[in-house]
Amino acid sequence: MAEQPVLDIDKLKTYFYLDDEKVAKAVDDVSFSVYPGETVALVGESGSGKSVTALSIMQLINKPGRIVEGTIVMNGKELLQMKPKQMTKVRGNDIAMVFQEPMTALNPVFTIGNQITEMIRKHQKSSKNQAREKAIELLKTVGIPRAEDIMNEYPHQLSGGMRQRVMIAIAISCEPALLIADEPTTALDVTIQAQILDLMADMRDKYHMSLLLITHDLGVVSEYADRVMVMYGGQIVEEGPTKELLRTTNHPYTKGLLNSLPNIDKHVDRLETIKGTVPAAFNFPKGCRFSTRCPYVMDKCLESNPEITEVGPEHYVRCYLHENGGIPNDESR
Ligand code: SF4
Repeated sequence: MAEQPVLDIDKLKTYFYLDDEKVAKAVDDVSFSVYPGETVALVGESGSGKSVTALSIMQLINKPGRIVEGTIVMNGKELLQMKPKQMTKVRGNDIAMVFQEPMTALNPVFTIGNQITEMIRKHQKSSKNQAREKAIELLKTVGIPRAEDIMNEYPHQLSGGMRQRVMIAIAISCEPALLIADEPTTALDVTIQAQILDLMADMRDKYHMSLLLITHDLGVVSEYADRVMVMYGGQIVEEGPTKELLRTTNHPYTKGLLNSLPNIDKHVDRLETIKGTVPAAFNFPKGCRFSTRCPYVMDKCLESNPEITEVGPEHYVRCYLHENGGIPNDESR
């Protein structure tokens, strides 16, 4: 891509130094870029490192964690060199984040109006009245009915879907270049999930934002993301344009995630699962980090961790199977 990326992450390592001298390598050598107007999905199970990646971008990593290596460049500015005060300006102005559970992000003792106007006034010069008017306009933009009344209500008076709309209104209030959404619909009813994802896609287009969507759900990815990065064991194991990656999946972990999705065309009595669990970040196996769960594990997988390699147009994979033509076509596995 010839365009300059909005976000460019290179060789990021975020480690947690645990009490008993264990080091949890939650994010371990992660590199990727997000370009203007695109939706990029970061996919994986809990513990794969995707949320820590997002918190690293926002520089919201608390002790015992710290970013130990790498660069995070946002619109040409290196975030890791910034002082805390400069970073506070970046959060909200340049990058905003929507979390899984809006109840934890909204302050229960302040009205919705208070919380949106405070965000607007913190980042933009405006009078109380101007901020209030902008807040009402934003609530209407994100599809909240009775916006004037909602301004005086408290978070607990709203449904989960409405609270998430409020969070999106707060996030877009300063028209950030990048919106990071960390499992934004996981806590919502299925019927509301699509509405919130559609809303975020609309806001991305309306405000010319880029969207970094963090999810465990490849179904969501297939509908909303232009590109996808699959994370496992603190590393990106497969990356590519969504259609290409879903059509010619090259990593057994991505394949496992796909096989665990319900498929309306295939009648199955039970959905497949990926056997085992994500290894603890302080105790990755030697060699490939997926080797303890992989149905195709070979001797060399136990010796060294594969490098990420290009296997198709902008399609990269971290697995030795590509040397022998990719994942074997063996339905019994
Ligand atoms: Fe499986 Fe080996 Fe590929 Fe790792 S490198 S995913 S263990 S086949």
